Amino acid sequence: MSPEADQGASPNRASARPDRDDPASERPGAGHDLPLDAHLHTDQSPDSSVPIDVYAALAVERRIPEIAITDHVDFDPRDPAYRYTRFEDRERTVRDAAERWAREGVTIRFGAELTYNQRWEADVREHLARHRYDYVIGSVHDWPESPYWPSRVRAWIEGRSLDEILEPYYAEIIAAARSGLFDTIGHLDVVKRYLHPHITAADLATRQDLQEPSLRAIVDAGVSLEVNTSGLRYPGAETYPSAPVVARYRQLGGERVVTGSDAHSRGSFAHRLGDAYRHLIDAGFEQLTFRRGHERVHIDLPRSGPIGTAGALRT
Ligand SMILES: [Zn+2]
Ligand SMILES: [Zn+2]
Repeated sequence: MSPEADQGASPNRASARPDRDDPASERPGAGHDLPLDAHLHTDQSPDSSVPIDVYAALAVERRIPEIAITDHVDFDPRDPAYRYTRFEDRERTVRDAAERWAREGVTIRFGAELTYNQRWEADVREHLARHRYDYVIGSVHDWPESPYWPSRVRAWIEGRSLDEILEPYYAEIIAAARSGLFDTIGHLDVVKRYLHPHITAADLATRQDLQEPSLRAIVDAGVSLEVNTSGLRYPGAETYPSAPVVARYRQLGGERVVTGSDAHSRGSFAHRLGDAYRHLIDAGFEQLTFRRGHERVHIDLPRSGPIGTAGALRT
């Protein structure tokens, strides 16, 4: 599940949920005048109740010409997103909306966020062989047996080094990158949310080297690294991954990047998306790498003027 998902699994997560369906699209942080928001959850995900038309209307209002709907597809029967909707229903809903909104100048892509784990890689592979999406994000979430599960995480941390604590999570990220199944690896270090408050974002920032093998795997596999702004809505208040990690990815030879707000509510649509674009520009990237069905495409990053609400571009 996503950064804003599986909230029902634990009280501490429920209280961490920053926003519901609020009419706050004009609040500070609402991104606008950006080319793409490539990570959105509609009411076809179990943890969102936003109809697709709401996002499309917001995209028109904020002058964001392209969005990707990436509802959850999960493979563990215990997960709320397991068979929550049928592929055919999701596809029809998104394609119909795409047709309605094309006239308004918004292009809607039919994507999915698939929860990856080596345990069910074969199922992911089979799903993708049978079903065609415009764009596919592979994400690692805290699977039911994971040491990061709310009832288990404190005991897992006890007496272990940061290297040991993070190893199972990043092993899955590396396997996801190498699987060749995905266009993009979603929210690279969402594990920091699972570890909070026992281990903070500041603690993790002292050991950014622990993400290096994952970054190298992403570079080698040629998948896109997503800069996901949902982390800005949680304690630690950093994108997933943070700006220094984005910069490091670039140094390691990373060329493919993409951004998304991972909205599960109306108020989170494109939320602080300008921050993610800024991190990319500051790191030296000039383009996003995205897929539109059969075609991998490059989308220029804004080069001048304001980026979202983040103010004037530093030059
Ligand atoms: Zn998501
Ligand atoms: Zn996710």
